Formats: sequence, structure tokens, C-alpha cells
Amino acid sequence: MKEMELAERLSRISEPQTIKMAKLSRELKAQGIDIVDLSIGEPDFDTPAHIREAAKKAIDEGFTHYTPVAGIPELRKAVVYKLQRDNGLEYTPEQIVVSTGAKQSIANAVLSIINPGDEVIIPTPYWVTYSELVKLCQGEVVFVPCSIENKYKITPAQLEAAITPKTKLFMFSSPCNPTGSVYSKEELKALADVFAKHPQIYIMADEIYEYINYVGKHESIAQFEGMQERTIIINGLSKGFAMTGWRLGYLAAPKSVAKAAENIQSQFTSATSSITQRAAVTALNGDLSTAHAMVDEFRKRRAFVFEQLSNIPGLQLIEPDGAFYMFPDVSAFFGKSYDGEVINNADDVCMYLLHKVNVSTVTGAAFEQPNCIRLSYATSMAKLEEGMKRLKAGFAQLS
Ligand code: PMP
Repeated sequence: MKEMELAERLSRISEPQTIKMAKLSRELKAQGIDIVDLSIGEPDFDTPAHIREAAKKAIDEGFTHYTPVAGIPELRKAVVYKLQRDNGLEYTPEQIVVSTGAKQSIANAVLSIINPGDEVIIPTPYWVTYSELVKLCQGEVVFVPCSIENKYKITPAQLEAAITPKTKLFMFSSPCNPTGSVYSKEELKALADVFAKHPQIYIMADEIYEYINYVGKHESIAQFEGMQERTIIINGLSKGFAMTGWRLGYLAAPKSVAKAAENIQSQFTSATSSITQRAAVTALNGDLSTAHAMVDEFRKRRAFVFEQLSNIPGLQLIEPDGAFYMFPDVSAFFGKSYDGEVINNADDVCMYLLHKVNVSTVTGAAFEQPNCIRLSYATSMAKLEEGMKRLKAGFAQLS
């Protein structure tokens, strides 16, 4: 039978390497191979008990029907409360749209703003999904490569140089996936000063790793004069509350963008799960002690993994200030070989580590930084110890 012809837009996007690598690791594990999986992008902790209880209660009370598309009123209010409490930002509930994960919030934002031909500036390394959504909307992606010397953060001069009259949107994450870099208040202010000269540009600030910060208080670019009116904050419960499977994200935006996002979502998915929303009200209104306990544990693992990786000759890395990833530059190993096979790039390094020492990582090419690989330390200390042992042996075997 002749294959159905798919839409042209599919040729513009690809499956995320992060998801591909997770799939490959699962397949090898299913074959009985003992894989140390450092490719994962989610906390290994359970969702806190009080949040789980709120969900059980919602089920028992029969709170299992459709809700308003942008979220139940108590939840939109809880997000407003959180933005005030944690970020000192004043919003109204109509500016909040709750979605099925932050990923959908980002999609809602891009679909709401981008016309064909609009330019979108993305500092790299960056999180895989941003560019694919822009391409789906036929926008033009403008990557700005950031250097390890500046901890992979964009400088004001780089930003200024990338802006054209066609620039519509700037997308970034802080803390950053994949680098773990965190923009300081001063760095964000310097970027805001550049944006002040270019009022046509929206800013999408992905703050999903907000609570996973080892250097101090999270800062949002929306706090600076004139910025809140043009910033779309993306956040959610996946990382800070260990709730990846619950699917809850949100955006906080100017009213017009929030309304547009709600319209789009009303045609794609409607509201996220009613049960998840009840749990989210409890999470956001509650204190952050469980998030802090999780971060304390991540801090220990980060110190351990950073020390171990720093001792592997050839790896070049920065100590990440947030999130739960290390992003070492492995280019010193390009041109080396094993069993007669030459390692040409970061993809080859990842495949070598996966098949020869059974550690799964993600190639930096996925994040537009082809000299690096990404390792997640959101796994138990025992697994990290074993993983580091294998990595050391693996890199030592390359000659
Ligand atoms: N932004 C970044 C930077 C992420 O790393 C992720 C998850 N990997 C998301 C957004 C999406 O999170 P969610 O599970 O809420 O869709």
C-alpha cells in the first residue's frame, strides 16, 4: 500500500535527542544490560506526600471533570501568589494560563507570537524544543553561540549584534538546561538595558529550574523597568516539586498573550488534568521545604560529580550554578579511537560511552554545542559513583 503523505511541516522538526537517548537506554535495559542512565531530565525523588494527598482527595471528591481551559480559579490565584512570594512580581489571574506541562506553555507562547519570517534569538547551548517550535511556526531561528569563558551565557554585546528589525522574540532558560548556568541580577539587568532600546521584542524566560539553584536567589528578567509588559514567564511543577508525570506548567504574560495562549490551548488540549490542578494548588500555596531538601541532596551530588569529572584528563567543564546537569566539553577526545573506530564528534562519544561502558548521556549537538555532552546527576549517589567509575575507565581507554 502507498504510504500516506505527511504534512510538509514535519520536515522542519526532529525528535529531541534527549528523548531518543532515553528510548535507547530503555531498550538496552530491557535487553538486560546494566545501564547507568545519566541522560534523564527529571528528579529521581517522589512527589511530596502532601501534594499526592491533595490529588487523592480530588479523586475521592469526584473532582474529575473538565475545568476552565486556562486552569481552575484557585490555581491561577495560587500562581499569582507564588509569583508575588518568590519573585516580587504582581500579576492578575487573567495573565496566567495553566497547561499540560511547561512544554505546552512554551508552545502556546510561540504559536501566539510568531509569524512566518519573524526572527527568534536563542542563545546556545539551549533547550532543544525552543527552535523546533519556532520552525513549526515558520519563524527564523537566530542562534547566538555562547562561550565557556562566559559560562555559556549571552553577553549584552552579543545580544545587541543579533537584533534586527525582524526580531520578534528572545528565548532562554535560567537556570539553563543543558549548562546549569544561572544569570545573575546584574547580568539580566544588562540584557534588559539592551531590550529597552528595541521595544518590538518579546522575551520568553523559561524559569522551570527556578528552585534548583545553588548560588542564591532566583532572579527573573521580568523584574526590571518596562520588562514585565513584554516578558512571558514559563514555569511549572515538573522539576521543583518532582512532578514530571503530572503534567503541569504555566505561563505568566501580558493579558493579550495570555488570552491568545488560552485560545490556542482551547483547540489543542483544553485544560490539563483536574486532579493535577488540585495537587498544584497545594504545591504552590505550601512552603518550599520539600524543594529545599531535594536541592540539598542535588548539591551534594553536584559536588561529587564535579570533582570526579574535573579529575578526568581532557574534560573541560564549568561548575554549574543550577539545574541538575554537567556539560563537559569532550572535544579533546575527537580524533581518538577504540577498536579501530575513530571518535569524530560528541555523538560518537555518547555512543562509545553507551556501548562500551554502559553509561547513557546526551550529545551536546542536541543543544547546539557539538563539543559537549550532557550528564544528569538526578540519580542516586550509588549510581553516580558507579557511573563516574565507568566514565573514568571509558575515557582512559581512548587513545
Ligand atoms: N524547559 C526546560 C528548560 C526543560 O528542561 C523542560 C523539561 N525537560 C521543560 C521546559 C518542560 O517541562 P515540562 O515537564 O513542564 O513540560
